[in-house]
Amino acid sequence: MLQAKPPVCHRRTLRTAAELVEAGLARPSAALDLLAETTAIAVPPALAELMVAGQENDPIARQFVPSPDELVTSAEERADPIGDEAYSPVKGLVHRYPDRVLIKPILVCPVYCRFCFRKDRVGDADATLSASELDAAFAYVAARPDLREIIFTGGDPLMLNAARLADLAARAASIGHVELTRFHTRVPIATPERVTAELVAALRSGPPAWVSVHVNHPRELSGGAGAALARLADAGIPLIAQTVLLKGVNDDAGVLEALFRALIRARVRPYYLHHPDLVPGTSHLRPTIQEGQALMRALRGRLSGIAQPTYVLDIPGGAGKVPIGPDWLVEDGVQDADGVVHAYPVAKGGPTC
Ligand SMILES: *Cc1c(COP(=O)(O)O)cnc(C)c1O
Ligand code: SF4
Repeated sequence: MLQAKPPVCHRRTLRTAAELVEAGLARPSAALDLLAETTAIAVPPALAELMVAGQENDPIARQFVPSPDELVTSAEERADPIGDEAYSPVKGLVHRYPDRVLIKPILVCPVYCRFCFRKDRVGDADATLSASELDAAFAYVAARPDLREIIFTGGDPLMLNAARLADLAARAASIGHVELTRFHTRVPIATPERVTAELVAALRSGPPAWVSVHVNHPRELSGGAGAALARLADAGIPLIAQTVLLKGVNDDAGVLEALFRALIRARVRPYYLHHPDLVPGTSHLRPTIQEGQALMRALRGRLSGIAQPTYVLDIPGGAGKVPIGPDWLVEDGVQDADGVVHAYPVAKGGPTC
């Protein structure tokens, strides 16, 4: 099947061009050296073990190992692809929707994704919010009663230790109008050993906490990820998944079906399938929206409803995320999963008054 030879075992996180080459995961090149100098690299053991050494097109390696293709930028790509900067009133906080904010307590991740929409910023250990910067971010939330949800993202908030996470939970709990928190993370996939009983207890110590896991390929759920997700689910933490649609990784109905089925078995509800953002140097990883819609159409007929995420685009410039189809309504009719159109009074609907 997948592995022609036994997986390579790495005990340490690979962080340099030389380490990737030595592990058989990249070929030495000037492009690799340049990318290693200018972008963050981390391939932790749990993910390195899932890659097939020597195969550049391995779907796991494609996500995390630099490719010379990244030196090719296209005109539509931009440095701040989703417009975080324009909506950041306080350092580390993004406020774009009326009822929820993002807080980015740390910009470090357990693994760095080559298509990351914050690629130019992640990996900076000095960007971790200080106590006074956290005070300012939480004061912003406390002053705005409309804010009901704090989404901790980054970077990866689960890179903070249990004590720091408990501090975030306590700060959220001290604001009466904050009803829930959400943690966006790759940790259960990339460094499942970090999901300890202490970490789970810290997550549960504040307002109800949801955990959103970033996972793109079914192979990421083999290994230790399953047990880490089970520890979270057994603690009663609702789990959702965000997947980025990536060319050569998961732009295939069979791969997405296997991923979403594995997620619901792990008690994780597929939430969003993200069309990739216009990050500079990622055109080799971006399918077209039409291809994404065709994949969603193919899944509709063959997969349980609870395994179907919403396909979304984060509009460049900061206008927000919107579903991008496919659209099942046609003029005066509705299409079924086989593409057959059935008459329905779409335009007329019911009374409008
Ligand atoms: C994605 C995002 C959210 C969360 O959006 P949901 O649709 O609730 O998942 C919140 N704020 C910002 C700025 C975002 O980019
Ligand atoms: S884990 Fe998230 S924030 Fe970190 S590099 Fe990947 S996409 Fe970016």
